[in-house]
Amino acid sequence: MSAFEEEQGQTPLSDPSRTLETLEKRGDLYRLLVSNIRDYAIFALDRTGRIATWNAGAQRFKGYRANEIIGKHFSVFYPPEESAAGKPQFELVEAERTGSFEDEGWRVRKDGSRFWANVVITALRDQSGTLIGFAKVTRDLTERRQNEERLKLSEEKFRLLIEAVRDYGIFMLDLDGRIASWNEGAARMVGHSAEEIVGRHFSILYSPEEIAAGKPETELEEASRLGRFEDEGWRRRKDGSQFWANVILTTIHDAKGVPIGFAKITRDLTERKAADARALRDAKLIAQTEAASVAKSEFLAAMSHELRTPLNAIGGYVDLLGLGVRGPLTEEQREYLDRIRRSQKHLLAIISDLLNFSRIEAGQISYDIKPVVLREVFEIVAPMILPQAVSKSVDFQWQKPADDLVVRADRSRLEQILLNLLTNAVKFTELGGKIRMTSSPTNGQVRVEVADTGIGIPAESLSTIFDPFVQVGRSLTSSVEGTGLGLAISRDLATAMDADLSVESVPGKGSTFILLLPRG
Ligand code: ADP
Repeated sequence: MSAFEEEQGQTPLSDPSRTLETLEKRGDLYRLLVSNIRDYAIFALDRTGRIATWNAGAQRFKGYRANEIIGKHFSVFYPPEESAAGKPQFELVEAERTGSFEDEGWRVRKDGSRFWANVVITALRDQSGTLIGFAKVTRDLTERRQNEERLKLSEEKFRLLIEAVRDYGIFMLDLDGRIASWNEGAARMVGHSAEEIVGRHFSILYSPEEIAAGKPETELEEASRLGRFEDEGWRRRKDGSQFWANVILTTIHDAKGVPIGFAKITRDLTERKAADARALRDAKLIAQTEAASVAKSEFLAAMSHELRTPLNAIGGYVDLLGLGVRGPLTEEQREYLDRIRRSQKHLLAIISDLLNFSRIEAGQISYDIKPVVLREVFEIVAPMILPQAVSKSVDFQWQKPADDLVVRADRSRLEQILLNLLTNAVKFTELGGKIRMTSSPTNGQVRVEVADTGIGIPAESLSTIFDPFVQVGRSLTSSVEGTGLGLAISRDLATAMDADLSVESVPGKGSTFILLLPRG
């Protein structure tokens, strides 16, 4: 027996022998049926709208027990404003007039809370057709309505989201390829506003050639067949210009699985494509430049080598003439011979620089790195530079390194670097200036310094003087001695020996070149 029956004081159905037929014969079956239904509120109203019966469903939805509500007017279930507007009365009138009245709307529970109800009021007439009251069946649809609202809200949110996306063109096509929706991103990408384009065929985004080739149709056909189609290609903007697009076309189905259209997501990759092309071009260019640079170094190495032979021959013959092998020379002849000799030496120096540099660059130099006593190196290079210093009246002094100061280096390359630095020091130091060569151990390394009180190097040139062919304040074609290769060679050699060559300088006061060598 249900709680509802118990409350109404009805006879329990405890005796199974009381079959449905007996109940039906007694007219109890329908009353029992109705009173026990919990999913519908089913109750009767008298002709004026007063509640005459009440069932389990009505109690469940509305919160009133039968004894609280029977005899009350059914307008208590309506929101006050609707009651005041005469809605309950109107519904009864309509039900009487047409036989039944159906409505959906808010109803009020006993505790004042509201629920969304589907209501059918049916006029009840006796056999003579006289109205005796109304049957009212109410269904609580609150949950369904909430679900619908939630769905609507989430659909709305989703729609707003899609509309607001600016970096992707997102739009819908109907089954014929007509544009059904158009977001902000699509408008930005293509230039058409939603008003202009919705309803038009999406082939508007293709070039005339592609339309002629049937590309838009092929895409739709493929998306229909496979559920999805992806492509990259040129698409057309409103102004006729083109953009490189990645396009994904997806077939959309309804709840029953029937295709209803397509979603199209488009990304503008013009920038990326251009960047890819640039990167490819740059990579090619770098490879070409590297190849050209190696070829150039190899060519220079070969050429310099070839040039040295005739130049040495010139030197040899000049020496012979100078010795007077063809008879005594006049003053003028001797003067000319001296000039030829100077030019030959100059040219030879340039060529050996070139040869040296190009060999290093072409990786043709091998290094014999081993412990080297620094003192021995100083003792070799210092006397070589002294005559030049003396001839320029520059004071050159060097500090003898301690006997145990040993470095790891290729001895002859190290000599070459120091000679280079010292030659430069003499070259760029004026009469009466000073040059000092010193050494000291520092953190597992040995620091060798060649310092001068010469013209110095402007701050902006400090980082470039180690580049090949750089000469401060002079152009490559000027007649001043030097190739601008000495420091480039020195740094390359130092690097190859795991050493580091740098410079500090105060213009007008002098320069200090610092060579940091690994300790031996
Ligand atoms: P080169 O001496 O043949 O011109 P380097 O590569 O040896 O080439 O030197 C490059 C440039 O660096 C020089 O032309 C000069 O301008 C600058 N330089 C090098 N050493 C010194 C120095 N001790 N004092 C001032 N400037 C220097």
